[in-house]
Amino acid sequence: MDKKVYLDAAATTYINNQVLAEMMPVLTTEYGNPNSLHTFGQNAKRYLDTARKRVADGIGAEPSEIYFTSGGTEADNWAIIGLARANKDKGNHIITSKIEHHAILDACKQLEKEGFKVTYLPVDKYGIVSLSALMHEIRKDTILVSIMVANNEVGTIQNLNAIARTVKEKDIIFHCDAVQALGNIHLNVNELNIDAMSLSSHKIYGPTGAGALYVRKGIKIDSLLKGGSQESGKRGGTVNLPAIVGFGKAVELVTKDVTGNAQKLRHLREYFTKRVMEKIDHVHLLGHPHQRLPGMVTLSFEFVEGEALLMLLDMSGIAVSTGSACTSNSLDPSHVLMAMNIEHDLAQTAVRFSIAKNVTKEDLDYVVNELVKHVKKLREISPLHISVVDDKEGE
Ligand code: PLP
Repeated sequence: MDKKVYLDAAATTYINNQVLAEMMPVLTTEYGNPNSLHTFGQNAKRYLDTARKRVADGIGAEPSEIYFTSGGTEADNWAIIGLARANKDKGNHIITSKIEHHAILDACKQLEKEGFKVTYLPVDKYGIVSLSALMHEIRKDTILVSIMVANNEVGTIQNLNAIARTVKEKDIIFHCDAVQALGNIHLNVNELNIDAMSLSSHKIYGPTGAGALYVRKGIKIDSLLKGGSQESGKRGGTVNLPAIVGFGKAVELVTKDVTGNAQKLRHLREYFTKRVMEKIDHVHLLGHPHQRLPGMVTLSFEFVEGEALLMLLDMSGIAVSTGSACTSNSLDPSHVLMAMNIEHDLAQTAVRFSIAKNVTKEDLDYVVNELVKHVKKLREISPLHISVVDDKEGE
C-alpha cells in the first residue's frame, strides 16, 4: 500500500518549497542573533524585519504592531492574559465563546483563578456565536471580547464584521484567533476593527514554532515572557529566526491570492462532500453549510466510532482527524460539538477532513472509495446499526 493522502491540513501543513528556500540561509550561513551588534547579528535583524513586514502586510497592520511568538497557542494565551492584566483598571469582565480553542479557554480559566469574570457565549447548531447574547452580556466592566474567526473542528466562520462593530461601539478591546482563517479568508485588521489577532505559521505551509500576535498601536498588553528586550521589550527570549523567516514568507504567499486559493479548496471540498453523501447513507455535515472554511469538512457517520474510522483510514494511508482532534487523548466528546448541541452519540462519529493545496481530485476519489469500504465494515459490527437493520427487516 503506497498511496498516501493527507487530509489533516487543519492540524498542520507541509512546508511550501519557496518557504523552505527562504529559510535555508538563516539555517546555514546567516545564523546571527538579531540582537547582536556585529554584522552577523545585523544581517539576521534584516531577515527579522522583512518577516515582520510581510506578516504585517498580510493583515493590513504596521510592522511595529506584530510581535512574534512560538505559535498560535502562545499568541492566544498572551492575548487573553496579557490584555486582561494590563487593562484591569478598567474592569474585570471578559467575554469569549464556548467553541474557542483550548489555548483561549484555558487562559480564561487562569484569569478566573485571578478574580476575573468570564462569560462563555453560546452558539447555534451551526457553531455561529449568538450576536444577541453578545450584546446582552456586555457590561460596564467588560474589558475584552475574544472570538475566533473560524472554528478548527467544524470550520464555521463567524459573523466577524457584526461582532467587531458591536464590540467597537462599546470601546472594548476585540481579540480574535485567526489561526485557521489566515490565508482562507481576507483579513484586514483595520477594515474589520480588530485590536488583537493570533496567527500561526504551521497551518499556512510554514514551519512549526512560529506565530504572531498583532496588537493595535496604543493597546496596553502585559508581557508573559520576561527576561529580554526582544520584540520591543514585550516578549523576552531569543527569537526563532528560521521559523519566523519561513512564517513571513508563508504569510506573503497565502495572502497573495486568498480568493483564488479558497476557490480551489472549496471546489475540492464540495466535490468530496457530494461524493461521500452519494455513496454512503446516514452521513451528516457538521458546522455551517456555507459559512465555512473552504478546505474543511466535518462529517458524522452514524453508527461508526470516529476513532475507529480514523484508524482504518490510517491503514489505507489516509490521515484525518476526529471531532475531538485537539483533545484526542480524551474520550470526552468535543466541547465544540457539545456547544452546538450535537447529540453525544453523533458527536462520537465525527471525522474532520481538511484539504491542503496539494490534494487532487484523484486523491479524494481514493479517499471516498476507502471510506465506503471502512464505513461498511464498521457498520457491520456495530450493535446499533445491526439493531436498526433488524428493525427495518422486521417491518
Ligand atoms: N487556535 C486555533 C483555532 C487552532 O486551530 C490552533 C491549532 O490547532 C491553535 C489556536 C494553536 O496553534 P499552534 O498549534 O500554533 O499553537
